[in-house]
Amino acid sequence: MDLNITVIGTGYLGATHATCMAELGFNVLGVDVDQDKIDSLSRGVLPFHEPHLPELLRKHLASGRLRFTTDYTEAAEFGDVHFIGVGTPQKPGEHAADLTYVDDAVLQLARHLRKDALIVGKSTVPVGTARRLRAVVDSVLAERGMDGLKVALAWNPEFLREGRAVEDTLTPDRLVVGTGTNRPEDTEREWAHGLLRRVYAKPLSAGTPLIETDYETAELVKVAANAFLATKISFINAFSEVTEIVGGDIRTLADALGHDTRIGRKFLNAGVGFGGGCLPKDIRALQARANEVGASAAMRFLTEVDEINLRRRDRVVHLAEEHLGILDGARIAVLGVSFKPESDDVRDSPALDIAARLYSSGAEVSVYDPQGNRNAAARFPRLNYVDSAHAAAAEADLVLLLTEWDEFKRMGPQDLEPYVRERRIIDGRNVLDGEKWTDRGWTFQALGHRPGV
Ligand code: NAD
Repeated sequence: MDLNITVIGTGYLGATHATCMAELGFNVLGVDVDQDKIDSLSRGVLPFHEPHLPELLRKHLASGRLRFTTDYTEAAEFGDVHFIGVGTPQKPGEHAADLTYVDDAVLQLARHLRKDALIVGKSTVPVGTARRLRAVVDSVLAERGMDGLKVALAWNPEFLREGRAVEDTLTPDRLVVGTGTNRPEDTEREWAHGLLRRVYAKPLSAGTPLIETDYETAELVKVAANAFLATKISFINAFSEVTEIVGGDIRTLADALGHDTRIGRKFLNAGVGFGGGCLPKDIRALQARANEVGASAAMRFLTEVDEINLRRRDRVVHLAEEHLGILDGARIAVLGVSFKPESDDVRDSPALDIAARLYSSGAEVSVYDPQGNRNAAARFPRLNYVDSAHAAAAEADLVLLLTEWDEFKRMGPQDLEPYVRERRIIDGRNVLDGEKWTDRGWTFQALGHRPGV
């Protein structure tokens, strides 16, 4: 039997997963409640920036293997395997994750199912969610008199990185699948794992490790990975706070640390810290869940990780103030507003937060990001969004490099000199060669370095 796959929720994760499932050879139906998104995807227009995805999307709309809908009846009729990739944002005013979207997606699906199905959660959720949803599915099916159907639930957390989402989905570092029990004699477990081994046959045959486990481990692997990455970034940024006082070179420190193969160089880049739609909300949700289950002490270190991260943003605002004397009326060029390069995602972006705070302190802020301007303008329309680094730098008293896009990394002082009013730059990502700038009379400041050094 050929497998039909639905992907419920077609945002960054879901649109990528749906398209890549078509690339793996399956017939795929993407489902979302957002009609505009579905219309756009159906026309082959990706509503966000992700390298290589638009080409694949159009390829599989043309091949007929990929379609999109808002209709759960159609989804339930079509799918043998239903991936759930809806959002799990931070609840407003709380640290916990908002599970309304995941709950609603699973509920809608269970209400419409008329044939055997495997439901596979991919969203990042607090531990305990899969087991709770499993009970919800059972009770909805029982209420509908459909308990004769074979319906199982597995959790298969997603580890893709925006900017490399296609590569990460087609050739992941590992696949993790959790089911209700770990017992091989559990036939539902064997059925679920068997179906997912078929879905992922290509990456598995290419050697991707597969970890088959229980719900709790699968849910925790994802948040543990994000907690680890966030901790690594805050670790080097904590040392930045020290080197900014005592001197030293944070980049050399990170390089030297990174040569230790037990540590590794990745995620040791000192700068304005982490942001985006995952790391910040995931470490907060993990703490909230740990509190609920009586393990608050275990995750308390994440409060520090979060605070170190947010202090980096304060630091840039203070440095701007120190350099300019007064922010009111100063002209500031902000280069980069997405939370990382190769993405247009500005959710919890340190760059946008800093730009907005400078504006609120009275500065005139011009922003240029190769992809992020549109999303940033939707969230914070009062900044002056322009379409080049030159335009942002026009008459600037201070330039801030806040997202390390390649075009900014390649930039030299001569590129901006004809435009700026004052030769001042803060390198918030530690990607520029400071000497090149100071040699030409710029005041250059990189995060993690003592001012004037
Ligand atoms: P997103 O906000 O881009 O997309 C979520 C989509 O779900 C939206 O299009 C929304 O309209 C849709 N949706 C909401 N309720 C729905 C419902 N009941 N039925 C159908 N569709 C519905 O979010 P995202 O960044 O794709 O993240 C989704 C999940 O994946 C989150 O749990 C996130 O933590 C996790 N995740 C994201 C990434 C990433 O890089 N973005 C990586 C790994 C894991």
